Amino acid sequence: MANTPYPQSYYAASANAVPPRPVLQGEVETDVCVIGAGYTGLSSALFLLENGFRVTVLEAAKVGFGASGRNGGQIVNSYSRDIDVIERSVGPKQAQLLGDMAFEGGKIIRERVAKYQIQCDLKDGGVFAALNSKHMGHLESQKRLWERYGHTQLELLDERRIREVVACDNYVGGLLDMSGGHIHPLNLALGEAAAVESLGGTIYEHSAAVRIERGANPVVHTAEGKVRAKFIIVAGNAYLGNLVPELAAKSMPCGTQVITTAPLGDELARTLLPQDYCVEDCNYLLDYYRLTSDKRLIFGGGVVYGARDPANIEAIIRPKMLKAFPQLKDVKIDYAWTGNFLLTLSRLPQVGRLGDNIYYSQGCSGHGVTYTHLAGKVLAEALRGQAERFDAFADLPHYPFPGGQMLRTPFAALGAWYYGLRDKFGM
Ligand SMILES: Cc1cc2nc3c(=O)[nH]c(=O)nc-3n(C[C@H](O)[C@H](O)[C@H](O)COP(=O)(O)OP(=O)(O)OC[C@H]3O[C@@H](n4cnc5c(N)ncnc54)[C@H](O)[C@@H]3O)c2cc1C
Repeated sequence: MANTPYPQSYYAASANAVPPRPVLQGEVETDVCVIGAGYTGLSSALFLLENGFRVTVLEAAKVGFGASGRNGGQIVNSYSRDIDVIERSVGPKQAQLLGDMAFEGGKIIRERVAKYQIQCDLKDGGVFAALNSKHMGHLESQKRLWERYGHTQLELLDERRIREVVACDNYVGGLLDMSGGHIHPLNLALGEAAAVESLGGTIYEHSAAVRIERGANPVVHTAEGKVRAKFIIVAGNAYLGNLVPELAAKSMPCGTQVITTAPLGDELARTLLPQDYCVEDCNYLLDYYRLTSDKRLIFGGGVVYGARDPANIEAIIRPKMLKAFPQLKDVKIDYAWTGNFLLTLSRLPQVGRLGDNIYYSQGCSGHGVTYTHLAGKVLAEALRGQAERFDAFADLPHYPFPGGQMLRTPFAALGAWYYGLRDKFGM
């Protein structure tokens, strides 16, 4: 692990072996140049290769270096804002299309894992845990809402029943989604990258796109080479920086932190989460956790607006873990890391096209494991000339953060402080 640029995470330490990948040198020609080898880029690349396109992926660091190789590993359906919010802000046809797609990402992951034999510890079952009766009311409506869109693998859990799936006394109930679940996120990305290469795609690592020459025949430049392509897909999300200024304007990178305990042993692990489901609570600033295949607890929470790296992650996250599981007070923390996701003001993803041939998807605002897999499919459809589903996303309204790039961080932090207070008092 010392020779890789991955953060010192549990995932990097337990990653499957991968072959070294080249740095781009000289000039190559391709149909589609994908910028970024996270789930958005890899999913796009896979769908395009399966449909006969030639694909070249440029990755600034290594496959899964960004959020895709650092996240909580929770397969959560729908978007960071749910379909009811979408229903209120767009017309019925667009809402129907977006609602129908809200449960597709998890299916794509499972299809990918099966088709390409990806070893990523896939487990079924995710729980949304209610800390108060308001949360419970929200979960009841969420169940009705999701069932309206044909999503049926849901079970409301009362106070007794949730104790059977998670040994935490703080919850008054919950919602179990058996089509949710969890994965080793970096190994999923690495498996998808291997699938890209098995279909003839090329991935260059340590090959950041530093400039895009726009026009009828766009060219992506790296430090030592260039890619001539018919189309470009920008999939750098929170790690993109200012490569495409239009995309930086309406989004904000945010950090969120994760810790991993030492192995708990089978018995303690089974006591905490007997069915091995993953859990997230219903707070705005939510806690999320799950077991790993070697029976550690991975626990995440907290948001740093503007994506500064906190000095002591364990000091921030461990107290949250102990609030949920005081029984872990003597358990050592083996890993702590941070990762960046991309927030939009609406918390809905930004999808679109710049000119005729530069496509992008970014900003899923927290819940992105399933959405990014769907995004790859939707972008690939658009490149093949089927843009109905792409347009449903592209037509979502997006606005800049108040205060512009200078003041967006304090404004967002203020908003989060307000919602944090509401969480604290169960409002
Ligand atoms: C700590 C953490 C926990 C999370 N937990 C969950 C969870 O449990 N469930 C869930 O649904 N979502 C979760 N998320 C969100 C989810 O991980 C992301 O939404 C998703 O992985 C984003 O994928 P992506 O491919 O769009 O971006 P990323 O995975 O960030 O990939 C972007 C890639 O682009 C590369 N790149 C950037 N700029 C360039 C450039 N100029 N040239 C070449 N390459 C470039 C980067 O190096 C990076 O590898 C979490 C996020 C974080 C940070």
